[in-house]
Amino acid sequence: MTSNLLADKPRPTVAAPALRTKAELRSALADARRAGQTIGLVPTMGYLHQGHLSLIRAARAECDLVVMSLFVNPTQFGAGEDLDRYPRDEERDLRLAGEAGADLVFAPAVEGVYPDGFSTYVEVTGSLANVLDGDPSSRGSEHFRGVTTVVAKLFNVVGPDVAYFGQKDAQQAVVIRRMVRDLDFPVRIEVLPTVREPDGLAMSSRNAYLGPEERERAVALSRALDAAEQGARADSLAAGLEAAARELEAAGIEPEYLEARDAETLEPAERLGDRPVLVAVAARVGSARLIDNVLIHPPDPTDKQSHT
Ligand code: AMP
Repeated sequence: MTSNLLADKPRPTVAAPALRTKAELRSALADARRAGQTIGLVPTMGYLHQGHLSLIRAARAECDLVVMSLFVNPTQFGAGEDLDRYPRDEERDLRLAGEAGADLVFAPAVEGVYPDGFSTYVEVTGSLANVLDGDPSSRGSEHFRGVTTVVAKLFNVVGPDVAYFGQKDAQQAVVIRRMVRDLDFPVRIEVLPTVREPDGLAMSSRNAYLGPEERERAVALSRALDAAEQGARADSLAAGLEAAARELEAAGIEPEYLEARDAETLEPAERLGDRPVLVAVAARVGSARLIDNVLIHPPDPTDKQSHT
């Protein structure tokens, strides 16, 4: 009787429980694994927004058990970057993660992930990790070494069937796909579209650093990418990049990079051919370093309007 009554009511939304150690996590997942349930993993650094939640919802729709990791990973921050002031609100994160469908949150301490004497890293070498954000003049390839190391460790501890990443960090997704392929991780990588604010600004935990005037100027990044795509389709990729540069300049933003690259190999792209092109931008707005990108798919040959 009681259970019928309860079943008619909407399920109360509850915060996801936080597990702090690998041992706790492994034992929490053991039954599910034995029962052959599928496990989805959503790696995050927390301070959740709708972009993160879209990944959790996708995992909820596809997997029996959804694990979100919450870890501000020190090895992917360079000296002088924002590790110390990276925004954090664990209580809110656990609530939002639970509401979006995470079954549990793995939130280890730094010492649990990097014990004394830690000296083993996973690194995707070559041009995938040393261009754009990985260029020495930008964050450098050490950034991606930190990312691949922590993601490899999460894959080992969680053993997910599927792991979910955002297109917002397009290069990160490309690098992780390469690591998974090269090291035979038995996990499927899903990359989901960038979630944006109504005016186009890509959602990011770092948007919290923006003051009101900076927040208004920051929308120039997505405007620039729109201009790049329109220019590339109407005229040429070079014209698109020029239009993008003008949008940034009009907002007083000097890009760290604004580049067109093959979306898979990250080799420089000169024109729209038969492969998707990634136009990626990074820029500092106030004290926030922001990144964004657009994926331009090859023009549809049946569409008579399109030029290259
Ligand atoms: P972060 O917490 O910034 O490390 O991001 C965790 C995951 O969320 C990464 O896979 C990001 O690519 C993804 N993500 C961050 N921002 C967005 C967004 N605006 N839309 C979709 N995914 C995002």
